[in-house]
Amino acid sequence: MTESGIFWRAMRRMAYLDGLTQVANRRRFEQHLDTEWRRMARQKMPLSVILADIDYFKGFNDLYGHQAGDNCLRLVARTLSRAVKRPGDLVARYGGEEFAVILPNTDLKGAETVAEDIRCLVRDRRITHRSSATDTIVTMSLGVASCIPSADSTAANLLKRADTALYKAKNSGRDQVRLAEK
Ligand code: GH3
Ligand code: MG
Ligand code: MG
Repeated sequence: MTESGIFWRAMRRMAYLDGLTQVANRRRFEQHLDTEWRRMARQKMPLSVILADIDYFKGFNDLYGHQAGDNCLRLVARTLSRAVKRPGDLVARYGGEEFAVILPNTDLKGAETVAEDIRCLVRDRRITHRSSATDTIVTMSLGVASCIPSADSTAANLLKRADTALYKAKNSGRDQVRLAEK
């Protein structure tokens, strides 16, 4: 490859990566969701999304400092990346301490399994969190939604359903996976 080819490849990589955690950023997430939405619509196959949010993370920062918070985010991002392995799958940093996962060709049941794996793998890290009201280690709440994409709905609606499920996980005690209603 030419020198300018290498340069532009590096530029493109940076434009789609989250600087702190090195997983995909939100821009990349939106783009991939759109691509997979159209691909699953053509194939009439299910597309699932998981929204995963760290519990009581503000308290973690307040107690251990912002640098420790950043390290925790890096470790959680790495843990999610390891739990999600199929081609077409994508882990992204969706917001501050919130991650999003795209799972093409995966139904609600399959996505629930992945979400539960993520929840347990994050727990297995045993990152001390003394200001959590849920446990003494870092935990996550997860919302899962799935559909077979069609003209009747949108990717934004799928995300909204995952967000509602996440909200329910938060309100029913955190450290759990909740599934969106049909
Ligand atoms: P909940 O269990 O309801 O999710 O509570 P929470 O404290 O995790 O949620 P809240 O939205 O109140 O606070 C999120 C906190 O995440 C705020 C900020 O301290 C922290 N945060 C967001 N982005 C970063 C970041 O890039 N680095 C660090 N260190 N902390 C961050
Ligand atoms: Mg949180
Ligand atoms: Mg949040």
